Amino acid sequence: MEKTKTKKKVKPAEEAPKPRKVFRLREALSLKDTAEKIGLKPRDLIEKIEARGLRAGNNDPLDEGLAKTIGEIVDADIEILSYEKDVIVRAKQNAQELVTRPPVVTIMGHVDHGKTTLLDAIRSSHLVDKESGGITQHIGAYRVTFNNRSITFVDTPGHEAFTQLRARGAQVTDIVILVISADDGVMPQTKEAIHHAKAAGVPIIVAINKIDKPEANVDRVKQQLSKEGILVEDWGGDVISVEVSAKEKKNINDLLEMIILLSDVIEIKTNRKVEAQGIVLEARLDSQKGPVATIIIQYGVLSMGEIFITGHISGKVRAMFDEKGKSLKKAEPSMPVEVLGFSEVPDAGEIFQVVPDIQTAKEIVSFRLSKIKKNAPARPEHVTLDDLFKKIEEGKVKELAFILKADVQGSVEVLVDLIPSLGTEEVKVKILHAGTGQITESDVLLASASNAIILGYNIRPNARIIQMAKEENVEIRTYSIIYQLTDEIKKAIVGLLAPKTREVYLGKAEVRKIFLIPKVGVIAGCLVTDGKIMRNADIRVVRGKEVIHHGRIASLKRVKEPVNEVGKNMECGISLEGFKDIQEGDLITAYHIEKIKPE
Ligand code: GDP
Repeated sequence: MEKTKTKKKVKPAEEAPKPRKVFRLREALSLKDTAEKIGLKPRDLIEKIEARGLRAGNNDPLDEGLAKTIGEIVDADIEILSYEKDVIVRAKQNAQELVTRPPVVTIMGHVDHGKTTLLDAIRSSHLVDKESGGITQHIGAYRVTFNNRSITFVDTPGHEAFTQLRARGAQVTDIVILVISADDGVMPQTKEAIHHAKAAGVPIIVAINKIDKPEANVDRVKQQLSKEGILVEDWGGDVISVEVSAKEKKNINDLLEMIILLSDVIEIKTNRKVEAQGIVLEARLDSQKGPVATIIIQYGVLSMGEIFITGHISGKVRAMFDEKGKSLKKAEPSMPVEVLGFSEVPDAGEIFQVVPDIQTAKEIVSFRLSKIKKNAPARPEHVTLDDLFKKIEEGKVKELAFILKADVQGSVEVLVDLIPSLGTEEVKVKILHAGTGQITESDVLLASASNAIILGYNIRPNARIIQMAKEENVEIRTYSIIYQLTDEIKKAIVGLLAPKTREVYLGKAEVRKIFLIPKVGVIAGCLVTDGKIMRNADIRVVRGKEVIHHGRIASLKRVKEPVNEVGKNMECGISLEGFKDIQEGDLITAYHIEKIKPE
């Protein structure tokens, strides 16, 4: 080992392959600004793009297509960062600017173990700014102060909200408090909560509750936890546990002290100097105030009057309130604040991002809207067994995670042993969560948030779960023979799993002329050059060498009459569903997806 290291060091510089240059630029940056960032005069860049037969202008927003072209021109990789990512990169760039922010805590655990009572106990004794006398409003989170330190508690206990946010790619929680009733012990939802927190990589503090009850048995809880891989401190582990009674408000201060202690250990940092960024915790339409959302600020300081974007909507901070209903001029990192001034109600889990001015907000929002129209469902792509091998080859998957549900505990135990052993050097296989019973919404959310596949053994998901999995792009596979289950996973890893569908080519048409028809939209006048085009076919639009759109035909007409099919050498008018950017010279390929019957 040592030897190779030394060898590498003395290797002459010229032998090493020159690393390709990478520019990380934010989405929708104008072509003019892009040119400046990569060290070219805008005029020169435009000329070079036009020399490739493409049109270009100073204000064109940077998208994937343009980034590819420019990358080829300057022989570099152009990576596009979302505005929000760009802010995080800038926030973390300068270590001196990083400062501590208060922890954001979510309480999880089994039903009736005392989550709500605990949240109430903490709120009633430690709420900030008690003297203002206001009655607490429900805004989805609240802050307490303890020993002059602030802690933010998310006010919706349970792992549904936690995982729902995470499924949207957002993580607000820094620390999870796992509430376990000392008389009941570890229960199914306790286990689920552990798996959710672990999957999110969020540290846990165990709060053993109801110690006032005579039948409380703290040691039994600790022992049960050890079976779940949670070793508390007096069991030789490093997980903090606190014994409390939420009902009698006993040891609540100890719990708060431990939260502060742990947050100092894990170092929760932010940068106050970047444009404010936060996560939408909840949002609603108020009959008087209009769209209202609670944001937990993660970076920067949010001020009145600032312009912001949230996904594809924008707004201006018209008013801000804290959990006491007190009006604020500024909101600090980790503060939950109710914000007024959205143009529409945003989705929970979306990132709230301040931008410098209205112009930038407009540019980014219109860019995102045009992208949404182009690629319709903007759901995250998740791994499936069918495309696993391709992703392994592309280096996109190094770990395959499963959620396992089976009819009986015996099967769960067998499969929990068997499945991880199917991993190879290239791909590790692990089980995130396993249990008996039906596949639940929570399983689907966990799978979506963690890019996992759900395996059902001797169970069938119901229609609601199938629909939800479809919406979240989560694959559910069901089996009734263990051998079949393990065999398919093995085959998928090495790329031998037979696809369940195949594409059947139908024909091709060339776009000859574009017609803009009022009230109807864009019609591509085409000539079918091969095979046939069918009204109900799937299509691909190819421009040059690039596929620029996948979708379906909205209408197919011959001499203004709708038809179901147009054959070779015939002209027709085609309009596409949700795609208007069709141009002369584009090629439309039509195909069907055919199911292959299992043998
Ligand atoms: P959640 O479902 O986890 O939110 O549980 P709740 O907070 O609603 O509590 C469930 C029940 O347990 C209620 O009747 C509470 O009064 C009771 N409870 C909560 N904490 C304690 C405690 O520390 N001691 C006792 N004896 N009862 C408690």
